[in-house]
Amino acid sequence: MYTYLSHLVCSACKRTYPADARIQTCGCGSPLLVSYDLQKLKGHLRKEDLKTRPETLWRYHELLPIVSEESIVTLHETMTPIIPLFRSGLDMNIPGLLVKDEGVLPSGTFKARGAAVGISKAKELGVTALALPTNGNAGAAWALYAARAGIEATVAMPITAPIVPQKECIVAGAKLWLVDGTIADAGALIVEAGKIKGWYDVGTLKEPYRLEGKKTMGFEIAEQTQWNVPDVIVYPTGGGAGVIGIYKALRELQQIGWIGERLPRMVVAQAAGCAPLVRAYELGEKTSQLWENAATIAFGMRVPKPLGDFMILNIVEQTGGTAISVTDDDVRTERKKVAQQEGLHICPEGAAAFAAARRLRQSGWIKQDERVLVMNTGSGLKYADQIDDEGTEYFNVTRINE
Ligand SMILES: *Cc1c(COP(=O)(O)O)cnc(C)c1O
Ligand SMILES: [Zn+2]
Repeated sequence: MYTYLSHLVCSACKRTYPADARIQTCGCGSPLLVSYDLQKLKGHLRKEDLKTRPETLWRYHELLPIVSEESIVTLHETMTPIIPLFRSGLDMNIPGLLVKDEGVLPSGTFKARGAAVGISKAKELGVTALALPTNGNAGAAWALYAARAGIEATVAMPITAPIVPQKECIVAGAKLWLVDGTIADAGALIVEAGKIKGWYDVGTLKEPYRLEGKKTMGFEIAEQTQWNVPDVIVYPTGGGAGVIGIYKALRELQQIGWIGERLPRMVVAQAAGCAPLVRAYELGEKTSQLWENAATIAFGMRVPKPLGDFMILNIVEQTGGTAISVTDDDVRTERKKVAQQEGLHICPEGAAAFAAARRLRQSGWIKQDERVLVMNTGSGLKYADQIDDEGTEYFNVTRINE
């Protein structure tokens, strides 16, 4: 069977829905999650079966929501590498430091995973027009995959969003709406306009399928570590779909018996200028409060009130993880360090996760002998303009020719 897709279930009230209808959130307003028939799958799929499959996220198709292979819209979402970082590891006193580099995916960020699976499912459900609010990278990914699928896309993002994803939306032929506000304001605009336009809202956790794409990060982490998952995963968190997706993947793998009891401790890294989850974690609360005047150069993490906050906080608790914020200065410093020590140009969000790992090692929360996987969620190229010209020398051509 191509998929073991079973039904949808509400993350809050547990009400269930059939998986073949175009649907947004539960009647209660909470996000819907995709369920699979894991008991049946258990008897039919073995780890070894994966070995001969193409190295893309579609190798996990039994645990993805696409019913018919023909629906798949793909730009070759390659499995992203896990790379040991010896010099940065030494510098941080974490010899077992690893990075999973999502920068090699189409459009340069892990958002391609959500877009590939989300767009494929939208196409399967007969969607012809969709819309989403974004801080930039999701908009770019969805605009490009929508173009490949022949679906009309409207993308609303803050006018302060980085320039590269804005241009990606334009080149892909999406309608780009620049909003004088945050992603929360862009989201409200999409909801309002959607009442007239009737489009499919594919904002984070506004439909169940984007999360399934992000889940594949968790499958890859498990498979690439030979089903012996790291001790700690540090994730730069905005809307939190990455954290929820990785955890969902690992739980599904547990239920089919492919990994054991132990799960990685999940670390939610946030920017000091927008840290609603860290604040809620520190106060011991189950949901977050809107973060006023959210501001950070790690733009993908600028989400003032994540819709899935209760799930993220629960995952931190369930796995014995933690939530920690770092400053924009930490981000700038860490980004240069990793580039200069390892030759890897990470994005500012990835740099925030590295800075969090460093701090957690300093405080002793991470032990020296632990295997720590930091998620670099995108390529530094998407934010190249943030790099200052420190050390650059300028030459005047007329003087050279004299
Ligand atoms: C969107 C984004 C994030 C935040 O991911 P969530 O899954 O929404 O928490 C982190 N890094 C980059 C580069 C992003 O584009
Ligand atoms: Zn519900």
